[in-house]
Amino acid sequence: MTEPGRVVLVTGGSRGIGLGIARAFAALGDRVAVTYKSKPPEDANLVALKADVTSDDEVDAAFAAVEERWGPVEVLVANAGITRDGLLLRMGESDFGDVVDTNLTGAYRCAKRAAGPMVRARTGRMIFVSSVAGLAGSAGQANYAASKAGLVGLARSIARELARRNITANVVAPGPVETDMTDALPEARRNELAASVPLGRFATIDEVAAAVTFLASSQAASITGAVLPVDGGLGMGH
Ligand code: NAP
Repeated sequence: MTEPGRVVLVTGGSRGIGLGIARAFAALGDRVAVTYKSKPPEDANLVALKADVTSDDEVDAAFAAVEERWGPVEVLVANAGITRDGLLLRMGESDFGDVVDTNLTGAYRCAKRAAGPMVRARTGRMIFVSSVAGLAGSAGQANYAASKAGLVGLARSIARELARRNITANVVAPGPVETDMTDALPEARRNELAASVPLGRFATIDEVAAAVTFLASSQAASITGAVLPVDGGLGMGH
């Protein structure tokens, strides 16, 4: 009899990069749940759970649902994220706070909820989806870049705290990726962004997913506290 796959939870897995990551784990034979805020994904291979990462209760309920079905989450991918772009002088406090609450505090809520069972199991993988913007900064995205930079400190602190329990925490930092988030940009801005990437193009969702599944694999067992860029060279030196 074959072993059942790992229990994987991907936040914000209803579309875009999160859906691609979830499908990549499912293709490896893992048991994959995704959280979403508004609309579930149409994919029979994934268990979809409505859970807003800004709500402690909803995060707890999503983990409880996974535990009841398959047991504790073994791989957490904190991917849910939003943007509310604007120049600093015009950025309202709610635009700043909402982005940090979703992208950074949301990841903290999920990591904290995942950590207890992982500590008891003495194994676990956490992967945080950050951005090149968090390392290099990004004009018009002070809120987003701050939240994404925060994920590096969060992951590295978790990596140090939980290393002796065989739990790793790593960050994937994509540059521009072909998704709804970047499709929404004006064409001129998209061309400008692609031209700024040394490889001259956006990354694909599959390329980001491959980095995430690698960090969750047994081959990556000695990698913790790392930031793995998937950015065509855009963030080199940061
Ligand atoms: P996307 O297409 O906009 O999808 C975002 C996902 O997050 C959706 O599943 C959305 O759920 C979910 N989400 C948003 N707010 C949530 C909340 N409060 N609670 C739970 N789920 C929530 O984004 P994407 O482009 O795939 O980006 C995914 C991640 O990669 C983000 O963290 C983003 O910052 C990062 N990233 C993206 C790029 C890029 O070029 N696209 C580059 C670097 C980093 P609903 O569909 O239900 O709203």
